[in-house]
Amino acid sequence: MKTITETKPEEGRKENQQPEETAPRLFGGRTNVTLRTAVLLVLLILVLFTAVRFQLWKLPEQEKRPLVLVNPWNPVSETNYRPRLKEIDEGFLADSDCADAAGHLLADCRAAGCRPRILSAYRSVDDQLMLYDEEVQRLVDEGTLPEQAESEVARKIAAPGRSEHELGLALDLVDESYPEMSDRQAQTDTARWLKENAWRYGFILRYPEDAEAETGYVWHPWHYRYVGEDAAGNIHSLGITLEEYLSMFFSEEAAVVYDKS
Ligand SMILES: [Zn+2]
Repeated sequence: MKTITETKPEEGRKENQQPEETAPRLFGGRTNVTLRTAVLLVLLILVLFTAVRFQLWKLPEQEKRPLVLVNPWNPVSETNYRPRLKEIDEGFLADSDCADAAGHLLADCRAAGCRPRILSAYRSVDDQLMLYDEEVQRLVDEGTLPEQAESEVARKIAAPGRSEHELGLALDLVDESYPEMSDRQAQTDTARWLKENAWRYGFILRYPEDAEAETGYVWHPWHYRYVGEDAAGNIHSLGITLEEYLSMFFSEEAAVVYDKS
């Protein structure tokens, strides 16, 4: 009872005073400061946004090159990309920047006590066609209907002309103790080390878990894609996909990314 009777007159007084206080604030009081801060904040955001966009927009071709996007909706033929092939290890080829980075990655992975092995690196469109057809045939032989086999394979293996392996920027890395491209690969020492460290060498886990809607593929704990150190660092720390990264920072490429028709 006591608090109610004490509070009410105060509230009433505040209500009465408000119109008098509001008028001068609009032009010279706290409102002006708030308004100025808001304008400055908006300007700052605009400047930062433009700066980020501008810097990335002006990235030299050499740095933008490893960011080329190929997925089920963006075929290799629609890019200007031509791999400059170089040997990495035991006859495997990759684009030269990717090959150099892969050399360091594999050496450090081995130095950390793991036993990494390359299962696949650069593949020509014909290699990709053969791989794709073989997998479809394997499922058909097991009794799957041809149409179903094709759609099942499409979630795991890129169709010819749409594989990052054709860019020479992708590596399938497995552990010597379990040289299989299956989900269980994620439990090996090599996969664990790569997941933690590959970004330092410019590689990302290209098809993470639960990202099929963005990337077009189910989880591939063995497929690493070279994107360059800056992009890899950002993608790793933000926990996003290459598609999301491009749509955040590269509007032109993002238009291609999301044209999934
Ligand atoms: Zn792969």
